[in-house]
Amino acid sequence: MNKLKGIGASNGISIAKAYILIDDVPNIKKKNISDSSAEVKKYYAAIKEATKQINNLKQKALKKLGAEKAAVFDAHLGILTDPEMERQVVEKINQEKVNASYALSDVSDVFKQMFLSMDDPYMQERAADISDVTNRVLKIIEGVKIKDLTLINEEVIIIAHDLTPSETSQLNAKFVKGFITEIGGRTSHSAIMARSLEIPAIVGCGKNVFKIKEDSKLLMDGNLGEIAVNPDNKLIKEFEERSKKIEEAKKIQQTFKNKKSISKDGWETKIAANIGSPNDIDGVLKSGADGIGLFRTEFLYMDSDDWPTEEEQFKSYKKVLESTKDKVVIRTLDIGGDKKLNYFNFPYEMNPFLGYRAIRFQLKNKKVLNAQFRALLRASAFGKLAINVPMVATIEEMKSIRKEFDRIEKELNKEGTKVGKYELGIMVEIPSTVELADKFAKYADFFSVGTNDLIQYTFAVDRMSESVSYLYQPFNPATLRKLKRTIDASHAEGKWTAICGEVAGEPMLTPVLVGMGLDEFSMSSSSVLEIRKLISEINKNEAEKLVEKVLDAETETEVKKLISKWMKEKGIEI
Ligand code: PEP
Ligand code: MG
Repeated sequence: MNKLKGIGASNGISIAKAYILIDDVPNIKKKNISDSSAEVKKYYAAIKEATKQINNLKQKALKKLGAEKAAVFDAHLGILTDPEMERQVVEKINQEKVNASYALSDVSDVFKQMFLSMDDPYMQERAADISDVTNRVLKIIEGVKIKDLTLINEEVIIIAHDLTPSETSQLNAKFVKGFITEIGGRTSHSAIMARSLEIPAIVGCGKNVFKIKEDSKLLMDGNLGEIAVNPDNKLIKEFEERSKKIEEAKKIQQTFKNKKSISKDGWETKIAANIGSPNDIDGVLKSGADGIGLFRTEFLYMDSDDWPTEEEQFKSYKKVLESTKDKVVIRTLDIGGDKKLNYFNFPYEMNPFLGYRAIRFQLKNKKVLNAQFRALLRASAFGKLAINVPMVATIEEMKSIRKEFDRIEKELNKEGTKVGKYELGIMVEIPSTVELADKFAKYADFFSVGTNDLIQYTFAVDRMSESVSYLYQPFNPATLRKLKRTIDASHAEGKWTAICGEVAGEPMLTPVLVGMGLDEFSMSSSSVLEIRKLISEINKNEAEKLVEKVLDAETETEVKKLISKWMKEKGIEI
């Protein structure tokens, strides 16, 4: 038995066999060969196999996404059989007496460079298609298995360098019992999605994960971030007992499904759910959440092959609004950082999390802004809509955003399209916004604190980096003071504050947030009932005293101790 440790990113424990996902480009080395005709044969055989694979993908896409979206595979087939590329590869193998992989990789680099140097962004993007196709052929030549996550049909735990948000969204929780990654932090988007899919996850485990052999038996604990490879019987027994306990706790939590979110001494708050697509609504309804506190619309953009149209967006927003009588907070496009689009190349930046993203991007791309803002305002007639704008840093931005919505509202009125009542708020996730929260509260209808980013910017610590994850401190008084100031500033103007970052679903922080009078907690559907039950065990007036103490602490460790002691005294268990 062998043990590994990482960062617990999505709760739950499971046992299943390892499924190693290596999607790296094979490391191609130049080899001098004597039998060039054998290498040429290898090359043609790989092209034949790649053609078969791409045709398969094309058929699947045709069924699932339609002809227009499947057309990309025709382009890939075209690259695969491009006569000029083929001629150059074969010539290189024969004349330079080098291996097929090296010849292909070298020729394809030249072609990629040619496309990258063109002025037309569309042509530049074709370089990515060449990479895609070449990697497929190289993997075939080098014998690297190509895996398709959607085809998994037995219980596995995935081991990967990292999973992209779109890969995570393809996982079928029936078979994927967990995933373990080499890199990443608790608030990387794959981790957030794992929580909403209720798939246990451990991230940031380092290179050792690749010492795990395919098909070996794994026991993972997503709470503690612990992995046992080929666990012994004693551990398996412990696992079974803990699974039973978790099931029992879940049963008790179920009794809170149709109850209000109310503290022991009668203070009422809201517990809403975070979603990434209209497909997540079922989970929200099952969880008994008080509405939707964050709809991350960027996944609509990431799951698409082109900018989603106004009409497509309108349908999605309307569907979500009609699914509940409660309020729905829809966030405008928060693209950039770790969320990329395959149909748009963001300019290269040293620090994409600090760069051209979210509302900064939309205010400069009016076409993208118009389509989304119009879709939102049209959808406002179908439910209780609150619009939330990410990454707002200055009052000027706030004013521009309000102006854009006013402009679009007038435009729709003129066209005779009904616009309902809606609230316009902002994500508080940049320290400058907290600093001026009293001023922002005059313009915004509400605040929603994005603690995932706020912590990252407060401590200057990359939320994706496992090497500095010790500095990512939700419990640090510096974080907690920011939360208190934001809540107080909104209340002073008669406005409300939600937290939609991962802090909202952290049980150890629940008493502190109750004590601060947080108006809405928004979290993964899977945490809603656990937190509602916990709040029912807390007296708000006692929690207020705990807040005074934690805000006066010096370190995160001190805060954790204060909370644990308080919970023990009150007989509250988590
Ligand atoms: C946040 O930053 O806390 C947040 C909710 O947004 P995201 O995780 O999508 O950046
Ligand atoms: Mg954010």
